[in-house]
Amino acid sequence: KCHNELVRLKGNIRVIGRVRPITKEDGDGPEASNAVTFDSDDDAVIHLLHKGKPVSFELDKVFPPHATQQDVFQEVQALITSCIDGYNVCIFAYGQTGAGKTYTMEGTIENPGINQRALQLLFSEVQEKASDWEYTITVSVAEIYNEALRDLLGKEPQEKLEIKLCPDGSGQLYVPGLTEFKVQSVEDINRVFEFGHTNRTTEFTNLNEHSSRSHALLIVTVRGTDYSTGLRTTGKLNLVDLAGSERVGKSGAEGSRLREAQYINKSLSALGDVISALRSRQGHVPFRNSKLTYLLQDSLSGDSKTLMLVQVSPVEKNTSETLCSLKFAERVR
Ligand code: ADP
Ligand code: MG
Repeated sequence: KCHNELVRLKGNIRVIGRVRPITKEDGDGPEASNAVTFDSDDDAVIHLLHKGKPVSFELDKVFPPHATQQDVFQEVQALITSCIDGYNVCIFAYGQTGAGKTYTMEGTIENPGINQRALQLLFSEVQEKASDWEYTITVSVAEIYNEALRDLLGKEPQEKLEIKLCPDGSGQLYVPGLTEFKVQSVEDINRVFEFGHTNRTTEFTNLNEHSSRSHALLIVTVRGTDYSTGLRTTGKLNLVDLAGSERVGKSGAEGSRLREAQYINKSLSALGDVISALRSRQGHVPFRNSKLTYLLQDSLSGDSKTLMLVQVSPVEKNTSETLCSLKFAERVR
């Protein structure tokens, strides 16, 4: 397979919506009433009632509020296992704060999300592959905050990391100093997640606010070697919980809050630009406009596979942001 060739099949980018259920936190006034409906015979369509006006969108698929973590995982399984065969995969959770991005990616202890399930599936798949192939799985945990990349598994999580071009002339990118932990069991993953989480919490007094303004990345690398032929493959799975897409009120934000908002806007629109350029097969794809797209360049281009999970809040008071998220979904589809 050729990484540099910018030939993509339409099927390499998919956009799936997920609507979360209404929760207690939404309150019980009219602003917490439901504004989203579905078609019983078409699971790709979502209808939104925005300021009394109905708007409809068609994505590749939409999960309604009652869809389970397992339902969502079922849909992304094949994508995840393709990295055993050497494909690079990106799965993004996009949406405003509170729309369910972290629930979908991380989940809870009782209802783990894609991250945990993906690693479990990869372990069992490589073990079942009875052949001459041997695999190692490593993970990195990183975040991008204000366009600075940080290693959450490193000894110096405050340090900003640079993205560099591989000196071997392959055109591949790498991040010198980014920690990779070899994982072999579910216990290993839990340890890694906990460690990453601790590194993220100790530095910020308000983790919730911080995590809604930074992109959280779990990068899984699957390396295979066929000992009978010497053939090697490398596949990368990038699981990204994006910063909240909500627009910060023009008048309200100042200082560091405004700066954060500008960085987020910039990197989310850069991501949208890159995906739509890839989709329309434009010659020039503006990967370098943000840290996120530059870091993930290898995993977005060539024959890589991308899934955008657009998270949606169903309630009335969020319809302006929901409308923006669904417009973003349409733009990248
Ligand atoms: P985000 O990461 O986009 O800010 P969260 O994932 O933290 O949003 O979700 C906000 C709240 O809604 C959390 O309390 C979360 O547990 C709950 N939630 C989100 N999606 C679901 C879902 N599909 N089912 C049940 N609860 C959900
Ligand atoms: Mg979150």
